[in-house]
Amino acid sequence: MRAIFTGGSEMNLLEIKNVKKYFPVQKGFLNQLFTRDKTFVKAIDDVSFDIKKGEVLGLAGESGSGKTTMGRLCVRLIDPTEGEIIFDGEDIAQLKGAEMRSIRRRLQFTFQDPSSSLNPRLSVGDAIADALRFQNIGTPDERKERTEQVLERVGLSPSSAFYDRKPHQLSGGQKQRVVFGRAIILNPDFIVTDEPVAMVDVSIKAQLLELMLDLQKELNLTYLFISHDLATARHVCDRIAIMYLGKLIEIGDKNQIYEEPLHPYTEGLISAIPVPDPKVKHAEKIPRGEIPSPINPPSGCRFHPRCPKVFDRCPVEEPNLQELDNGRFVACHLYSN
Ligand code: SF4
Repeated sequence: MRAIFTGGSEMNLLEIKNVKKYFPVQKGFLNQLFTRDKTFVKAIDDVSFDIKKGEVLGLAGESGSGKTTMGRLCVRLIDPTEGEIIFDGEDIAQLKGAEMRSIRRRLQFTFQDPSSSLNPRLSVGDAIADALRFQNIGTPDERKERTEQVLERVGLSPSSAFYDRKPHQLSGGQKQRVVFGRAIILNPDFIVTDEPVAMVDVSIKAQLLELMLDLQKELNLTYLFISHDLATARHVCDRIAIMYLGKLIEIGDKNQIYEEPLHPYTEGLISAIPVPDPKVKHAEKIPRGEIPSPINPPSGCRFHPRCPKVFDRCPVEEPNLQELDNGRFVACHLYSN
């Protein structure tokens, strides 16, 4: 399958080309004795897309769709089984050692749960300054000064009141601000942010999203915004990509995706977004059943056992992700030639 380019490649900060990530399944002792075949979880199975410089691309789908694994691959926290990960013109899929370390500074990942991603023994200041120490940047005084600036920038002000605090002395929103601070201290170009506001109250959510977008403008950042919450994704993203069972099934401008979803799965996800006005009724088209196992995905279109529009071609032939108009891609036989 060809890669998805929304513009000239010079506009793209990241190009994912035919990437696969298969995890081997550990078998029991007897199974290992009697079967030679290896079994794999096909977490990511031949996915291609790009992210333009300065954009926020949303990556959405149910739990088990592969979106977090895809995010980790984008910044090479894990190695792909196959495929190319082209960052700023260079394929980083196979980079190792010092070469990867020098690129690492430009790629950051923020984990979903700030409580578990912060070391409880490290102070807030040390947690943020750690990245500078690891990269051998600056003297201790310079690192402290830079960390204080970052604390102020992410809204933990005055920095002197937060520098020596431990994570358990912070609220959920403050911990998320520390996570953002740790992500920006190395002046990265690209941040994958995994459900950044899933663990905070609604009142704090808006402030954190605003901070994220302010940092984007100020530092010229590009984001991959992973979320199962499509209402939030609409607020912050330029384009939305939808994943289902290790495959990308639709991608396009956010207004296209929300106003005219094409893939039946996308249609179901969009119809399930809560409507604030209780008088407005909308027809929910939530896909029936649960997401199947990625060890033995369904034949043909992986969505066919749950699809309300399934027809005879669907279980036997896998639909390709194809471009319908400029930048709009969908993988569904309803739109095949
Ligand atoms: Fe549904 Fe068939 Fe389209 Fe798959 S290819 S989403 S089963 S209509």
